[in-house]
Amino acid sequence: MIRITQLKLSIDEPVDKIKSLLLKKLKIQESDLIDYRIYKESIDARQRGEINFIYTVDATVKHEGKILGKKLKNVALAPKLDYKNPPIGQKPLNHRPLVIGFGPAGMFAALLLAQNGYRPIVLERGQAVDERVKSIDEFWSKGQLNPKSNVQFGEGGAGTFSDGKLTSRVRDLRGRKVLEEFVQAGAPEDILYKAHPHVGTDLLRDIVKNIRKQIIALGGEVYFDSQVEQFMIEKDALTGVKLVDGRIFKATQAVLAIGHSARDTFNELYDKGINITAKPFAVGVRIEHPQRLIDKAQYKEFAGHPRLGAAEYRLTYKASSGRGVYTFCMCPGGLVVPAASEEGRLVTNGMSEHARNQENANSGLLVQVFPEDFPTEHPLAGVEFQRILERKAYELGGSNYQAPAQRVGDFLDHKASTTMGTVTPSYALGVTPSNLDELFPEYITQSMREAIIGLDKKLHGFALSDAVMTGVESRSSSPVRINRDEESFQSISTKGIYPSGEGAGFAGGIVSAAIDGLKCAEALISTYNRPVEES
Ligand code: FAD
Repeated sequence: MIRITQLKLSIDEPVDKIKSLLLKKLKIQESDLIDYRIYKESIDARQRGEINFIYTVDATVKHEGKILGKKLKNVALAPKLDYKNPPIGQKPLNHRPLVIGFGPAGMFAALLLAQNGYRPIVLERGQAVDERVKSIDEFWSKGQLNPKSNVQFGEGGAGTFSDGKLTSRVRDLRGRKVLEEFVQAGAPEDILYKAHPHVGTDLLRDIVKNIRKQIIALGGEVYFDSQVEQFMIEKDALTGVKLVDGRIFKATQAVLAIGHSARDTFNELYDKGINITAKPFAVGVRIEHPQRLIDKAQYKEFAGHPRLGAAEYRLTYKASSGRGVYTFCMCPGGLVVPAASEEGRLVTNGMSEHARNQENANSGLLVQVFPEDFPTEHPLAGVEFQRILERKAYELGGSNYQAPAQRVGDFLDHKASTTMGTVTPSYALGVTPSNLDELFPEYITQSMREAIIGLDKKLHGFALSDAVMTGVESRSSSPVRINRDEESFQSISTKGIYPSGEGAGFAGGIVSAAIDGLKCAEALISTYNRPVEES
């Protein structure tokens, strides 16, 4: 297969025109082109007054060697990117491997184990997606939180109720496998080539169900409402786990993919002597602007063009204190969502549907925090730091899961908001106009103020007075790292535990968590033979 890069089409040219560009570029007749597919599509909006799509295309042709021999610019042999299963290990495995947590990391670890004949047993504390949707609807409409199953806990993990952005900054060939499995499970094929692929929460719900069905069809088992409460450890090695309801699963190997919100499980791990340390993360607010303002700022006169969709942004700023401030998990045409998992504490996040057609754009506006900022030097002090903010946000909002919110103009003027302006907050349970200085320490509000003004120079309108800041976004990444050996992928203190994904501090986002799950499963597979135990 031949790869051709830098094929350019203007925004108003049909995609089919790629074929004629291809023939021209390769200097061949149509009869010599067997097949072609887009490998990558990106938007180039750098030149004022024009927007182009830039394509990388893979083509199967007759006389490939002859064409490559012409040494044409931007034409080369396509690299082989197929995922290769790991070699099967030789050590005996007496029990089936466990996968604890069914977010992207656990799901992809379980999928690979199942695909290789390891018949994993998946234990997930939350509900299967259909029941989970009902629990979340109950919370978002009536403020009744189910601490066992919510935006953080349940089938598909934190990623299910998300924008479903599938971008990852991790350069790893496994990323392609992740996207291909998503497509296999029902995601649109364009995620394979779009520069900023996205699925949307509506499609994700079916995708995660289909992946679960595949794991079961391959001999795996998936249990919901199955929270691991205790880790059984002898001589620094795992021997099994006990669930909240008393069930015991014997196991010597477990992928631990519990996400960043399993605070009770972090406590249990710490109590059992599993090596865990505090790590930096970031906290802040969701900031909402009208989507059309973002479209205008990014696409100028092309804003609203049907080929462009809702515009995105990703911005960074360095505050005078040296702290990094950045926008995070931007949701074009999306909603700010209630994302709490503990009663009496408030958390926000963002999501969108595939169509990204809501009125507002929202994004996290986050400031870095470090272990020195936490209340103590305890490895779990970052959790305490989050909890303090989440409690304050809950109380500031009125102790009923309404969220504290402030107009950007008021925030910059250091005065409490008493009402919202032209931008209607999308947070489902309603907002309470507030003063965010009462929520955050000064080093955070000061950094956010500087950043808003600075970022307005990069994205005109970012400092719009009526833009809405809704707090608190405290779960952007894990406050801990469950340390592992980079060769065996097992905990540095406890054999048989493979800390994986975001909660363990090795990923940030759906794709990178899924990649990390694959890595842990590969490590297990290439060490141990398939399990001998029947059930
Ligand atoms: P998680 O997805 O958190 O999964 C961990 C799972 O483990 C959970 O289901 C939990 O219930 C389970 N669990 C925890 N403890 C136990 C236990 N003791 N026993 C059994 N099960 C347990 N990322 C993107 O890339 N793109 C986006 O658009 C995006 N949007 C987001 C929107 C929202 C609202 C949220 C909350 C997150 C979003 N993210 C997004 C982040 C992304 O969802 C996470 O990075 C990703 O889900 C992390 O995967 P994970 O498997 O490591 O952990």
